[in-house]
Amino acid sequence: MTNDMTSFARDLERRMLDIRDKLPHFGAPRIRDLSKLRYLVVHHTASHENTTPAELAREAFLRFKWDGISYHFLIYQNGDIYLTRNPIELGACVELKNTPSLCVACVGNFSETQPSDAMILTLADFAAWALACYQTIEKICRHSFFKETECPGINFPWQSFASAVRERMRGVPRIFTIEGGQ
Ligand SMILES: [Zn+2]
Repeated sequence: MTNDMTSFARDLERRMLDIRDKLPHFGAPRIRDLSKLRYLVVHHTASHENTTPAELAREAFLRFKWDGISYHFLIYQNGDIYLTRNPIELGACVELKNTPSLCVACVGNFSETQPSDAMILTLADFAAWALACYQTIEKICRHSFFKETECPGINFPWQSFASAVRERMRGVPRIFTIEGGQ
């Protein structure tokens, strides 16, 4: 925990459940240099909203031969948040940009359904936490910023999320941008 952490970020850290040891692993993860982090990247899992972290880890292995879950954090519709991969381990979530990316996925398919307010507010708290913990992150963006994809879904309320992040960071001397001009 760092000193300039906002109350939003502190609350988020208390709520975050570390389930890394409970997930299946399929080999050794690749370690990266955390000082190279530049992006906080938001995804949806494009799966059913009740898909479990273990199911996502197995699918990442079966489909992509990855060593386990591709995302570092997962957020559910009820606002639960899980740490699923150590941020020092390379994720498999942004093609050609995995090294500078910290990845969080909202569980569900938000081209077909809507994320709840609880999910979006938890994501905004999480962004405030990540900006405090990882000072080299300079931009918050959607997966679609890097690649032609609908991820995190065409119904994802990006502007509401961006406003919620700005609200949480008000008065905090931390320079960053949010994709979409805010
Ligand atoms: Zn994605």
